[in-house]
Amino acid sequence: VSRNPGEVEFHQAVYEVAVDIFDFIRDKPVYHEAQILRRIAEPDRVVSFRVCWEDDAGNVRVQRGYRVQNNNSIGPYKGGLRFHKSVNQSILKFLAFEQTFKNSLTGLPMGGGKGGSDFNPKGKSDREIMRFCQSFMTELYRHVGEDTDIPAGDIGVGAREIGYMFGQYKRITNRYVGVLTGKGLEWGGSLVRKESTGYGVVYFLDHMFKQDKDTIDGKVVAISGAGNVATHAAEKAIQLGAKVVTMSDSTGFVHDPDGFSHEKIQWIVDQKSQGRGSLASYTEVYSAARFHAGERPWSVSCDVAMPCATQNELNQDEAKVLLKNGVKAVVEGANMPCSNDAIAVLRSARVLFGPAKAANAGGVAVSGLEMSQNSMRISLKEEELQGMLREIMGNIHKNCLEFAVQDDGYVDYAKGANIAGFKKVANAMLAFGIL
Ligand code: NDP
Repeated sequence: VSRNPGEVEFHQAVYEVAVDIFDFIRDKPVYHEAQILRRIAEPDRVVSFRVCWEDDAGNVRVQRGYRVQNNNSIGPYKGGLRFHKSVNQSILKFLAFEQTFKNSLTGLPMGGGKGGSDFNPKGKSDREIMRFCQSFMTELYRHVGEDTDIPAGDIGVGAREIGYMFGQYKRITNRYVGVLTGKGLEWGGSLVRKESTGYGVVYFLDHMFKQDKDTIDGKVVAISGAGNVATHAAEKAIQLGAKVVTMSDSTGFVHDPDGFSHEKIQWIVDQKSQGRGSLASYTEVYSAARFHAGERPWSVSCDVAMPCATQNELNQDEAKVLLKNGVKAVVEGANMPCSNDAIAVLRSARVLFGPAKAANAGGVAVSGLEMSQNSMRISLKEEELQGMLREIMGNIHKNCLEFAVQDDGYVDYAKGANIAGFKKVANAMLAFGIL
């Protein structure tokens, strides 16, 4: 804590992992002696830089950009870029730390990184977004590369922003390489990338239920968020027979007791992609639904809760309400959406808990496949990629299980994911010696 003053999200992420890792390494002095956990919790480097751009009114704006390169023991740094007004070094360090374990769990050769800026894309014109992205890449380009560090999208960074940044990288370097993932299909992107995180979350949930001799079919699901992860998770959950009854955004949540359909989800996707703001207007179109301004959806009775918006959006009190309402599973679509004390409540109640680093790894896994396709200059077919995504999520589930089963039979996926993710990175670090 004293080495990283004020970085509360980073402390939270390291603490959550450390508790499980201490258990695992207690009788393995080789990891202690080499100070492996301490080394993983000290990023290889943190780059911070000024991003200067001009708005449509001719005002000069100054933002801060970052790239946190956490660990490249098992492959080049890989992780998204987030553009959101809340972005700071603590949030990006927590995300880069988590990403290191997540990428390890995918089984693909990718290290962990994350980056972004406190730039707020809300209300900005297309030209302003373009000028910001170009300015951001004008500094970032010197720190990334197809074999060094391959950023992707995250909150506030979708195909449009990736396009502006890729264009600027290409212009500066005169090289057409897979330096970013999440690209458009016409210029090096991969099929299935867009839907992979949300679909992967539901595949992981499906494995958890099957392991527990249960099924998603017929379950009532509360989802938070209305972005990429939330909408695709909702779509896949519905396909597998669940009834999704909530979606949310930064202004509140919608409760639709009839359940969301593909058409209703598409309405949300259109609304958000056209920058039309709050979900509040959903009730004008679908009158059985209710909008709860400024609230989160965890008071709604459900079998499954899927937080898919942002970090720390489900706290201990909300976890207790979910338990009271009979929740059977909580699966994290967003990164670190549950506070540590919420996770403790769920784990001690023996509720199925799918941690983000396992459950939402489908996105980065397909990003890894996009990197391979770029290197080979090929494009895989949709069915092949869907099959690979399903297989990877199945393997992640299996890898977690190796360390997850407790004495009373409870499958503690959080513990399993932490240990399985750690072991691979730690063994690579041991092989490289002390550096
Ligand atoms: P999007 O930008 O597409 O959507 C984010 C959603 O969360 C929006 O509905 C947004 O509301 C809401 N939101 C964002 N910040 C807040 C906040 N502080 N309070 C309340 N609501 C908020 O992002 P993604 O769907 O891509 O990402 C969501 C989460 O999933 C993040 O934690 C991200 O790191 C994680 N993730 C994403 C991956 C991906 O492939 N995209 C991969 C792995 C993890 P509004 O519409 O009002 O802005």
